[in-house]
Amino acid sequence: MEKPAKTAKDELFPESRTRNLTEADLKGKSAWELTLIRNEIYARHGYVFKRAELANHFKKRPWYKPVTGDQERVWRQMSETERRNVEFIQEYQNRTGLRSLRPPSLMLPVQIASASLRFVPRTPSSQKQPEPPAPPAPPVRRKQPVICIDPGHPSEVGIGTRGRKVTEVGIAWEVALKIKKILEKEGWTVVLTKSREREYVKNRDRAMVANRANADLMVRLHCDSTGGSGTATFYPDRQGRKQGVRGPQQDVIDRSREMATVFHKTMMRSLKGSLRDRGLHADIKTLIGSRQGALTGSIFSRVPVLLVEMCVLPYPSDEAFIASEAGQMKMANAIADGIRAAIRRTSASGK
Ligand SMILES: [Zn+2]
Repeated sequence: MEKPAKTAKDELFPESRTRNLTEADLKGKSAWELTLIRNEIYARHGYVFKRAELANHFKKRPWYKPVTGDQERVWRQMSETERRNVEFIQEYQNRTGLRSLRPPSLMLPVQIASASLRFVPRTPSSQKQPEPPAPPAPPVRRKQPVICIDPGHPSEVGIGTRGRKVTEVGIAWEVALKIKKILEKEGWTVVLTKSREREYVKNRDRAMVANRANADLMVRLHCDSTGGSGTATFYPDRQGRKQGVRGPQQDVIDRSREMATVFHKTMMRSLKGSLRDRGLHADIKTLIGSRQGALTGSIFSRVPVLLVEMCVLPYPSDEAFIASEAGQMKMANAIADGIRAAIRRTSASGK
């Protein structure tokens, strides 16, 4: 039984539950308004917001009943229309640069990259200010990064490869947990694409997890079954096609290339020769990429994405390295170093 529809009174955009929103619906809205309209869909299903600005906004709505902080659970409760609208608004915000986590009045003062504090004159609150069309440059007070870590397999392409002692699915899971711990210590948000080692998640759905989190970067962890020995990084360098969808968008391709380049160089330097450098390659160099144009996880990604083949598991010395606790830790640190460098590079260039 469906519960009776809650009152639409006081909702910013009640229609987001009943019909597909269009570009015309969103046009002219400020970054903060768009953020609210999108999150209102989560709020209707009782999502408990972690961000204070959103929590404060929704707790004032009489219809809002906070139930759970489990974003995936809330996602599953949404209707197809609501999910589509969340993704539509997110995509619109990414494309137009109208991304905001804060109401405009809380965005002052701004911290400039040189660490000097500058106060922007406050405009009278009675005067309605039009939202600027694009994010200002240099970027002001970036939020802490959000990273999506995707421990590979089990998925529609199988359970993954295995060595003599360890499995790809096991290693990817262990290294993912270590990276999560390292980056969370620094105040970053790390989202995993699954909640336990053997959870089956399709590659398309893994990309959707990164999209919903609006991650600054998605890093996919795998171990190769062939290729000699060593570590390689892959990124989408063109659009591919899967299930009638073409993707990723050109700006995702550009940002993935830039971030993967910095990432791979930094990761290999950090590994200090523990594993051979197999290089940085386009998705098209993989078996699936050669058929589709890009990997499935890349095609559906709306955020920058790269895939690391951490080692070649059937190769004995590669397996010995990654099977050890010290080797996993070294790999996790090297990947975290690569992520930090990639994020720094893109914030520095104002993207
Ligand atoms: Zn794999």
